Amino acid sequence: MGSWSGSVGGAGRGPGAAVSIESKLLGSRGVVQKVSRRYFWGVPEPSVYELVERLGNLLRAAERRAGARAGLQPVHLHALGYVARCNRYSDSPGALQEYLGVTKGTASQTVTVLQERGLLRRRRDDEDARRVHLELTAKGRRLVASALPPRPFEEALADLPAGGRELRAQLMGLLRGLQRSGGVPSFGVCRTCAHFRREAGGFRCGLTGEPLERDETALICREHSPVETGD
Ligand code: SF4
Repeated sequence: MGSWSGSVGGAGRGPGAAVSIESKLLGSRGVVQKVSRRYFWGVPEPSVYELVERLGNLLRAAERRAGARAGLQPVHLHALGYVARCNRYSDSPGALQEYLGVTKGTASQTVTVLQERGLLRRRRDDEDARRVHLELTAKGRRLVASALPPRPFEEALADLPAGGRELRAQLMGLLRGLQRSGGVPSFGVCRTCAHFRREAGGFRCGLTGEPLERDETALICREHSPVETGD
């Protein structure tokens, strides 16, 4: 897995290499060394589980630091990131709750905090006043653009061959497997959805029957149904 496994596991490279990449994620040599020793040094061949779990910890730490600059928790950043990338079928408080995997109360509290900070707003649906859409304010869009993904992650990713394209495909397979076994909604994009239709002059959602703009096909959808590849 290229530089990730080499640096984290230390195979064929010294502790300095691990510090180099992990420093980008944690930004503190002292903390990096302490956490790295605790979790990985001396482990000759970390498992995929250990690597993903470790990456999750590092990313959460980077998100905490990015969020703290704006007085926010990681869950607030995740909510903003979701609303920034979800489509028109998925911008409701209920879909946000499902995506975050939190309780209704936590989702509601998250929306309230983001509204109070002027980062998010609720908009009543034009045709059905009972329905609420969430949308980012200009301030919210700026924050997402500056905080997500955390810059140290982008820098570490850029060091991988082809910007991590191969890793991305493998992680997608892993994610899909976890979602299948856990019965978790996939929240994917149109191009990997069984309902997606290409037709003369554009695209259409086979579930809703509505036409889709090209940009919309790259947005996250709560109705996404993964194309079964038979693997
Ligand atoms: S094609 Fe699938 S992902 Fe796209 S809008 Fe329809 S249900 Fe959602």
